[in-house]
Amino acid sequence: MQAIKRNVLLNPGPSTTTDSVKYAQVVPDICPREKEFAGLMKGLREDLVRIVHGDLTEYTSVLFCGSGTINIDVVINSLLPEGKKVLVINNGAYSARAVDVCKYYGLPHVELAFPLDQLPDLAVVEETLKDDPDIALVYTTHNETGSGILNPVREIGALAHAYGAVFAVDTTSTYAMRPINIKEENIDFCMASAQKGLMAFTGLSFIVGKRRIIEESKNYPRRSYYCNLYMQYDFFEKTGEMHFTPPVQTIYATIQALKEYWEEGEEAKWARHTRIYNSINKGLEDLGFRQAIRPEWRAGLVSCVIYPDDPKWSFDAVHDYCYERGFTIYPGKVSTTTTFRLCSLGAIDEQDIADFFTVFEEALHKFDIQVPVHYNDPVGF
Ligand SMILES: *Cc1c(COP(=O)(O)O)cnc(C)c1O
Repeated sequence: MQAIKRNVLLNPGPSTTTDSVKYAQVVPDICPREKEFAGLMKGLREDLVRIVHGDLTEYTSVLFCGSGTINIDVVINSLLPEGKKVLVINNGAYSARAVDVCKYYGLPHVELAFPLDQLPDLAVVEETLKDDPDIALVYTTHNETGSGILNPVREIGALAHAYGAVFAVDTTSTYAMRPINIKEENIDFCMASAQKGLMAFTGLSFIVGKRRIIEESKNYPRRSYYCNLYMQYDFFEKTGEMHFTPPVQTIYATIQALKEYWEEGEEAKWARHTRIYNSINKGLEDLGFRQAIRPEWRAGLVSCVIYPDDPKWSFDAVHDYCYERGFTIYPGKVSTTTTFRLCSLGAIDEQDIADFFTVFEEALHKFDIQVPVHYNDPVGF
């Protein structure tokens, strides 16, 4: 196995992968309609449920060919009964995307918008549910990847259930990183893509959720042909296959990534992400950088860094310098401030972060940016 040039990706996904996962894509050509392939899919679907500690009689997983946004589309368009409403609890770019999905399908929805650097107000969530018995689906994002804020899904789920609604959460940027117990977190549906926490490749996205609710959705309005949850589930149950052509090579890589996931172990993997996250924060702090989200509200996977007040600061110049040396940093998504992000996912460890900061600091000096960096405002996190 020849080593492939290793890049350290500090963007919020796709993540750095191992060479064994990269090479797992190189397989003899196979028609995915063969029994051999359907057998692989069954084990894969079950593993995806096990990652969130779901009981296989109660929960299932449904796969789609697409990037993570396909999950948002599927969940929202498929799980809303006729005449009912979606409640989107929105404090970031990914929940805003769910609101867009509601708009594109013309679905009745209530958007509860909160500032991007604040947690949702649970009292307001409860009032909304109490006042509007038509809300049948409550939706939010676990780790808002744009800012790195962690939403209180267990509490939101308890409220959704108390008012008889189904609770769906976008867990794309926590799944297979931060441990999740789907039942204990009061989640009916969660979702992710192979290229994030699992450290595989783009093209495979999946929804893990309650079988009973998917079966009930059989008679809900069908708003999409390709992106219907029940249709895809039913096809899997009857044939063991995806309705349309699956991303064959990505599935082989994901199976290898899952093998490596179980080998590393849930706890050890989360400890590694935490180690990376702590070294990123330490590196930033040593250089005087500030972040947009209060430490106690962060999900522990994204550091959302505020641009320093320095006329010499240029994200693009620093980015390009690091990129040329194998380190990818990423612009922010918090519209109120100008930020960039450093993320703690992927097959990397502390040494990579130490190497990154050597290069990053070199970049700051090269472009004459004052170190420690300067902020005009005397307060910050
Ligand atoms: C990455 C991500 C997605 C998927 O985005 P794509 O651009 O479709 O890959 C969805 N939700 C969250 C929270 C994410 O971090």
